[in-house]
Amino acid sequence: MVTREALHEELNPFQIAKQQFNRAADYLELDDSTRHVLSSPKRQLIVSIPVKMDGGDVQVFEGYRVQHNIARGPCKGGIRYHPNVTLDEVKALASWMTWKCATLGIPYGGGKGGVICDPKSLSINELERLTRRYAFEIAPIIGPDRDIPAPDVYTDEQTMAWIMDTISMVRGHTELGVVTGKPISLGGSQGRSEATARGCLYALREACKVKRIDLKGARVAVHGFGNAGANIARLVAADGAKVVAACDSKAGLLCESGIDIQAALQHKAKTKSLAGLPGARAISPEDIVTVDCDILLPAALENAITLANVGQVKAKIIAELANGPTTPGADRVLADEGVFLVPDILANAGGVTVSYYEWVQDQYSFFWSEKQINESLEQAMQTAFNSVYETAQRYDTDMRTGAYILAVDRVAEATRVRGIFP
Ligand code: GLU
Repeated sequence: MVTREALHEELNPFQIAKQQFNRAADYLELDDSTRHVLSSPKRQLIVSIPVKMDGGDVQVFEGYRVQHNIARGPCKGGIRYHPNVTLDEVKALASWMTWKCATLGIPYGGGKGGVICDPKSLSINELERLTRRYAFEIAPIIGPDRDIPAPDVYTDEQTMAWIMDTISMVRGHTELGVVTGKPISLGGSQGRSEATARGCLYALREACKVKRIDLKGARVAVHGFGNAGANIARLVAADGAKVVAACDSKAGLLCESGIDIQAALQHKAKTKSLAGLPGARAISPEDIVTVDCDILLPAALENAITLANVGQVKAKIIAELANGPTTPGADRVLADEGVFLVPDILANAGGVTVSYYEWVQDQYSFFWSEKQINESLEQAMQTAFNSVYETAQRYDTDMRTGAYILAVDRVAEATRVRGIFP
């Protein structure tokens, strides 16, 4: 039973990221100096982005790029456009990227960017001007060997194309490796657009083996229907699972016999919303987390599963496609109840893994087939899943803590052998 007081838990993502880090640091008995180094973002850039709007006026947006850690390689991480972006959120997202890349063994540190804006209310021309000016403002700190952005919430391959072009104009040569998640025609990788979801599918198959749940016939709820949510709904349905509930930011759907995902994708493409899909009952998007299902896939924003609703979660497996969807308080409740949670820094790492393949392909100007990409991704996800599972067993803890122990240990070791400059 969760008390009223406990419901006032910390929802600041950066404070949450620090708690998650410290929990692993305690298990690893890390000294205070290393804790300070690893929990402080290396660099934080705040920029003003003046944009000529279509009506002729100029609006100024605020944007961020945070570089959390470069011990294991250049910073890597997406750019988010959302009205609720804050510097603390970007700091948290950047640090989660550090741990994500370390969990997968990818030679990157963590970074993240964000712009406070409502992209749905901007025209395509306004979005292009905003993106190009933001890219120009962060140009001094990004680059293929420094910090490599990618898509995140409400940014996509067109956004990456504009950034690549802007940076290339500034530098005087085409800089393919400055961003990943680009269109295929511009040095993008096969498989990148669905990689976050596909990576999650591979992790989920492993989780199903642990919990002895057959994905075929399993009842799945998907919270969020952006790139990650829509693709995972399609992929689990192709594996024979029944998607009984799904939502986007405005509308939730429930259908006991399974939502027709192809119809949902077409409906969303046509109407920009899941609302009104024939054959499904409307529910509130927040209720997706607590519907009766075997597998819950949070694929939207942070703090979807908190102490306020965790008591009603029915799923036996949760795989986090979103970054930071579960609070530490909710984590403890889920662990006590034996819910098997595949944490964000493992479950959604397929995106950055194929971003890494894209960056390597760009450097060599030699491109792989989709089959090669997906096979490498499957192997990377299985290896990471097994390392995390084995670490969690060894320390007798949950999967999130297992992943953090593995990741923090790798970054701490890289920091130790590099030493502190000067
Ligand atoms: N934004 C994605 C994430 O949170 C992808 C990052 C990347 O590919 O660099 O993992």
